[in-house]
Amino acid sequence: MVSIVMYDNPPGAWLKGRQSTGKGHISSQERRIICVTCLLLVVMCCSAKTGGDGRQFFTSPDLAWKAGVAATVITPQEPVWMGGYSSRTYPAERKVLDLWAKALYLEDARKRGSLIITCDLVGLSKTVSDRIKDELLEKTGLSKAQIILNCSHTHSGPVTSGNLINIYPIDSENLAVVDQYTEWLCEQLVALAVKAMQNAEPAKVFSRNGTVRFQVNRRKNMESELTNLTELKGANDYSVPVLKVEDKQGNIKAIVFGYACHPTVLNGYEWCGDYPGFAQVELEKLYPGATALFFQGAGADQNPLPRRSIPLAKQYGKELAAAVERVIDEPMWELQPRLETAYSEIPLEMENPPGEAELVKLKEEYTVDYYIRWAESMLAKLRRGEKLPSAYTYPVQVWQLGDQTIVALGGELMISYALRLKELLGENIFVMGYSNDVTGYIPSDAELATKWGEEIESSHFEFDLPAKWKPGLEKVILDEVITLSKFNF
Ligand SMILES: [Zn+2]
Repeated sequence: MVSIVMYDNPPGAWLKGRQSTGKGHISSQERRIICVTCLLLVVMCCSAKTGGDGRQFFTSPDLAWKAGVAATVITPQEPVWMGGYSSRTYPAERKVLDLWAKALYLEDARKRGSLIITCDLVGLSKTVSDRIKDELLEKTGLSKAQIILNCSHTHSGPVTSGNLINIYPIDSENLAVVDQYTEWLCEQLVALAVKAMQNAEPAKVFSRNGTVRFQVNRRKNMESELTNLTELKGANDYSVPVLKVEDKQGNIKAIVFGYACHPTVLNGYEWCGDYPGFAQVELEKLYPGATALFFQGAGADQNPLPRRSIPLAKQYGKELAAAVERVIDEPMWELQPRLETAYSEIPLEMENPPGEAELVKLKEEYTVDYYIRWAESMLAKLRRGEKLPSAYTYPVQVWQLGDQTIVALGGELMISYALRLKELLGENIFVMGYSNDVTGYIPSDAELATKWGEEIESSHFEFDLPAKWKPGLEKVILDEVITLSKFNF
């Protein structure tokens, strides 16, 4: 399989575009341009001041960003099966909160555009994400590199086609409803993104990380023992990344914020964005006129504990909103109006896929319903003449907004990736998981080797993959992020 790398702006292009005409010397006109540029740099430096962590506050001479936002309700209008848990046995009955999809369009001083689309959904498969991005390419000219499609991973949203599909005891009638809903959803997301782009107006963009501590490492702390624990164990990343977008009057238009933690407070039969849903509601109350967009971070092994009540989901939502409010109330970094985007698809190798005879045997041996459904799905593929792949096409994306780096990775990303990426690229970066393809758990090699838990062991059953990951995926992913992050400003 070939790695596809797509740069909206190839590395070095920004500089190359400004180099001399290739004659090997600097002309007098170019000398004048260099002088003016140096003068501008001096002026810009004069308007910068140093922040607490050493980064420079950039004060823009004018409003060179453009930004547009849009939001739309994506709550199913009829009963649809709910995503995230295998234990539910019938579709949703009512709603606690509407589910939302939201889009922020950002365009830099050179008219380079980008879209962040966030959804109150458990996940979108790569097939569905690619379809949305293909339609957006046609309608807006924005490439895959320029669009981040992130799901909050709420476990109180609808199932979408081809995502986690093996875990549900769902009949063909309900499956058809899921497919109809997904069709409608794709149309809504494309229209939403186009609307955000049409709403673009001059803006300023700011970023900074905050902190909130309700995530608990669910592999290292037993939920049932939680009230007796005096000390929580395991890795965490309590960061609350925040992007703030202001219009020319200084009003907040959009707040993009994230957290790395499973939205699994609720497990009933009511539609709800879970704690991210309540956090968005709270922020939109705090900042009237602003649209709040939540993105999921590397929250695969983090749970909000304790959990299982609507008041608890509200509490965590309010805690997260309060963390965002604090970031907004304190000085934030104003981002220079310069955007770079890069995206690639890399092969993640899996163990050898099973053959037909082995699958027949496994199907007889398994006692877990969705393991059996997985074996049936693999057998059906083989019998249709499909070859089971030995590698998975995995999306890796990096953005640079002024000084702010954003890494967006697919799958259920473990917190170890956020921690490692911050060591490699700096503690201020934003890390998104669950982006562009919510496929299986993405463990580090150490986590894979120590059989992190049932979720890693069974992830390929859930996500309809033929086998488990081969060791070595961590290096492949991190190396690709580093490669993509080498933008030449
Ligand atoms: Zn999950």
